[in-house]
Amino acid sequence: MSELPYSYDAPVSQALFDRASVVTPGGVNSPVRAFRAVGGTPRFMVSGAGPYLTDADGREYVDLVCSWGPMILGHSHPEVIAAVQEAVTRGTSFGTPGEGEVALAEEIVARVGPVDQVRLVSSGTEATMSAIRLARGFTRRTKVIKFAGCYHGHVDSLLAAAGSGVATFALPDTPGVTGAQAGDTIVLPYNDLESVQEAFHRHPGEIACVITEASPGNMGVVPPLPGFNQGLKDACRANGALFVSDEVMTGFRTSRAGWFGIDGVTPDLMTFGKVMGGGFPAAAFGGRADVMAHLAPAGPVYQAGTLSGNPVATAAGLAQLRLLDDAAYVKVNEVSTQIQTLVSEALTKEGVAHTLQSASNMFSVFFTDRPVRDYEDAKAQESFRYTAFFHSLLANGVYLPPSSFESWFVSTAHDDTAVQRIADALPAAARAAAEATAE
Ligand code: PLP
Repeated sequence: MSELPYSYDAPVSQALFDRASVVTPGGVNSPVRAFRAVGGTPRFMVSGAGPYLTDADGREYVDLVCSWGPMILGHSHPEVIAAVQEAVTRGTSFGTPGEGEVALAEEIVARVGPVDQVRLVSSGTEATMSAIRLARGFTRRTKVIKFAGCYHGHVDSLLAAAGSGVATFALPDTPGVTGAQAGDTIVLPYNDLESVQEAFHRHPGEIACVITEASPGNMGVVPPLPGFNQGLKDACRANGALFVSDEVMTGFRTSRAGWFGIDGVTPDLMTFGKVMGGGFPAAAFGGRADVMAHLAPAGPVYQAGTLSGNPVATAAGLAQLRLLDDAAYVKVNEVSTQIQTLVSEALTKEGVAHTLQSASNMFSVFFTDRPVRDYEDAKAQESFRYTAFFHSLLANGVYLPPSSFESWFVSTAHDDTAVQRIADALPAAARAAAEATAE
């Protein structure tokens, strides 16, 4: 896979990738890690410390992916590691209730106003899948509205126009999802309230819920236009449907209370993941007490998990959340702004048309001079420039998401030294983007 003109050797990663490709489809356990959108050899990482990752060839990178969002305190934060070590010495899984999960649930309920009750699960996919089931069980309706370019995990019924990973592979839908599973999903353009009103009009009494990313990051960062989330909430209320806000990516990242803490729109149900697990598999869904009361064993809607509320994962998540005070968000937002400014200046200097979009400290660069408001706009960008930009930065020790349809993530650990390394690598990357051609 080293056909790129600006490629460089990563022999140990290459050997690992070759081995992996024998025993794992495509050599990876989650598609976008395979670098297919940008080409080249995926880097196999062996360790992370603060803002840095080190790969199997011994190269260090400033990490602008942060495990796709969770590592908001940087890698191997000593207090998170200590909490994990303390928990793990007491055992790794009991299959019973434990205090850690109560404390994590209490922390989430205390932070996020609309969440009266919460159920812990192990992945964001499980959280959205369960929230949709609960919404259908509660309303006794079948249809779900989602938006093109929003990703809610690989839930069968939500894998339609699902952004990032799916966009990267240009799969309009995935084989294996049946017509029946997708048939109750209505996919609408993002940021278009009129189409939502129309859908409610066409399907009276049939729509169980509207699910949206609170502020989308899976088609690149495309924040809701002012009033969009409130409009969704109002349309749901007027039509007896639930408003489900997916905060798996934005939750506890964009503010103490996630995107809800920024726009204040009150959902009926919310989903969480990433940051709340501190780098371990922990996720959650929660919301209105009367809706959550429908969940087993309190109510009839079944949902369960062997490792739900795992003691090590909850210890990591709790430790991370407790460290995330207002000062931490100020710091992440500051460093995010600094990096955005550097990226934009470097591209402007080389005359590269681009649009930088942000939602709190999440941001991404689109290689287009037009604002990106929905998935169609996002797809219209010149992604080939991102490929050149990405590889130049990778060669110079900066690790970006290997796709132009992803948010970039920073952490409290991104200090002046890390930012300077990015600044040093940007001029060459901007030149590479300027010189890139479509073929
Ligand atoms: N929802 C959103 C908004 C996400 O960004 C993701 C993952 O990126 C998910 C759900 C799925 O989470 P997981 O990958 O933990 O299943």
